[in-house]
Amino acid sequence: MTVGIVGAGQLGRMLALAGYPLGLDFLFLDPAREAPAGKVAPQICSDFTDAEALARLARETEVLTFDWENISVDALRALPKGAHICPPISALAAAQDRVSEKQLFERLKIPTTRWHSVESRGELDRAVQEIGLPGVLKTRRLGYDGKGQRVLRKPGDVAAAWEALGNSPLLYEELVPFDYEVSIIGARSGRGEVVTYPLNGNVHAEGILRLTRAPYGPAPLQRRAALYLRRALEHFHYTGILTIEFFVRAGKLIANEMAPRVHNSGHWTIEGAQTSQFENHLRAILDLPLGSTAPRGHCAMINLIGEMPGRNSVLGIAGVHLHDYAKTPRPGRKLGHLTLVERSAALRDRRARRLLGELAAAIRIP
Ligand code: AMP
Repeated sequence: MTVGIVGAGQLGRMLALAGYPLGLDFLFLDPAREAPAGKVAPQICSDFTDAEALARLARETEVLTFDWENISVDALRALPKGAHICPPISALAAAQDRVSEKQLFERLKIPTTRWHSVESRGELDRAVQEIGLPGVLKTRRLGYDGKGQRVLRKPGDVAAAWEALGNSPLLYEELVPFDYEVSIIGARSGRGEVVTYPLNGNVHAEGILRLTRAPYGPAPLQRRAALYLRRALEHFHYTGILTIEFFVRAGKLIANEMAPRVHNSGHWTIEGAQTSQFENHLRAILDLPLGSTAPRGHCAMINLIGEMPGRNSVLGIAGVHLHDYAKTPRPGRKLGHLTLVERSAALRDRRARRLLGELAAAIRIP
């Protein structure tokens, strides 16, 4: 059985690596010649919007999925009727536009930030007046890893932010003085089975995820996040993995965004959970029974950004798992990650702190 994946980045690569033990084959579509997943599976080298290439991908595979959310919804909708696309295109469309995403959260009664859509300079002034300062101006589309965002702290920042981002549709929202950030990841299969992973505690710097620890946070927060995720899964009659990221402020969850795919904050599940997010995504889209999401210990995942440490140095540290995505180093680029699985949260935090120190990553662990 062959799974077609639009996008051949590291997420696609880890999907393939999780699928091989199940006897699955993969075919990727990505324009990049040196794509991480293209090194472990066949790849059609073509643009994501190339109708002929997409049709070939659908023809030659049993099910079609994607490893990032900025692929063309129109191109997917134009595929022949028989194409089996998971997760649903409706979820992809909602996640691609920050305004649709906020409207979805409101409709599902999932608390989110106060926000205002912005299409003109006048509207930005009104949004700042209504929501106040500080706030964040974000592009509605194509933002990831903190790209396409400006923080506005004083009235004098408005003009420069408009100058930088004003040529695309925008959203302005309050800057949440959060205590910490979490995400929840879960899967729903075509037959309606739902599983959720333990909550992830996430630390970002410059908009990019640096560290995830799991399980994280108090049990009531976990239950509430799982409830919200289930609501979204049921709303879309979803098939596959879905992720929601939240700010936590005074013990309350405030949804930031959702991703209709496997997520960076779930990489720890490869070594740290009974079934990884990648395997559960494949099980869900192929309508197989979902696997246990129980953790095997207390996990930390550290992203390797911009440059890779020497293999010798990290593999010399007992219990460190290295994932190298085989990408060309570039500042700000996610090149790989490390995972630790420990007996206690205290030991995990101690080891993660030391490891971050050795990598010279100045991340403050709360
Ligand atoms: P995003 O691309 O929207 O997920 O933003 C990336 C990161 O920027 C988030 O994980 C936060 O650390 C930070 N951030 C984004 N929006 C806000 C906000 N409204 N308030 C506080 N921090 C934010």
